[in-house]
Amino acid sequence: MVDEVDLHDRLEQVLWRIAAAAWRSGRRPEDVTLIAVCKTWPTSVVKAAYDLGLRHFGENRVQEAAAKFSEFRPADLVLHLIGHLQSNKVRQTAALFDSVDSLDSLGLAGLLAKQAAVRPTPLPVLLEVNVAGEESKFGLAVEAVLPILRDLQDLPSLRPLGLMTVAPVVSDPEEVRPVFRRLRELRDECQQALGLPLPELSMGMTNDYAVAIEEGATAIRVGRALFGERA
Ligand SMILES: *Cc1c(COP(=O)(O)O)cnc(C)c1O
Repeated sequence: MVDEVDLHDRLEQVLWRIAAAAWRSGRRPEDVTLIAVCKTWPTSVVKAAYDLGLRHFGENRVQEAAAKFSEFRPADLVLHLIGHLQSNKVRQTAALFDSVDSLDSLGLAGLLAKQAAVRPTPLPVLLEVNVAGEESKFGLAVEAVLPILRDLQDLPSLRPLGLMTVAPVVSDPEEVRPVFRRLRELRDECQQALGLPLPELSMGMTNDYAVAIEEGATAIRVGRALFGERA
């Protein structure tokens, strides 16, 4: 279990590191949203994190998120899907999540748009990009991003807000700085080409979030640094 005292101390430390990285890069701490990645942790842990002031939560499995957040869903809690979306889960996803941060194909976008049409407001989405071109990872190739963003403009029930990436696992986070930089440049190029604001860059996890913030992350997805190692 996650001890609440530990959680408090860990959160404090993460918030300090966010602030330090933001100031270092000439930005403000409040420009960076901390998404608490609570996959594998029970509802009690989500509640404890919420009580400490966290509002953004990330899950990578639709089924698990549905069970957990049917028990606890305050109106100001923002739930992000950060894992690969399967086509048989689009209906549930459109109903459950406030944002889909891991959209990685036009086909899925079409299916999701159909389900999202019943929502009162468009569903925010980020395109997941496999910047390093890793075989084992989901995400769009860099070249695929601009054409898909173009096509998304025909799907008004989805609102593309930016890009997301999961960097390769490395021992020194400096090694993945170019990955984060490339995502930011890609976002800039797409904004320019489309004349469409794409404010969000979701990048950085426990091992590399400080570097990601220095490279322009507007959201970081942190699990272990807050909750400890997953079982
Ligand atoms: C699990 C996960 C995270 C959090 O990873 P930590 O190393 O625990 O911070 C972030 N993003 C995605 C997409 C994940 O699946």
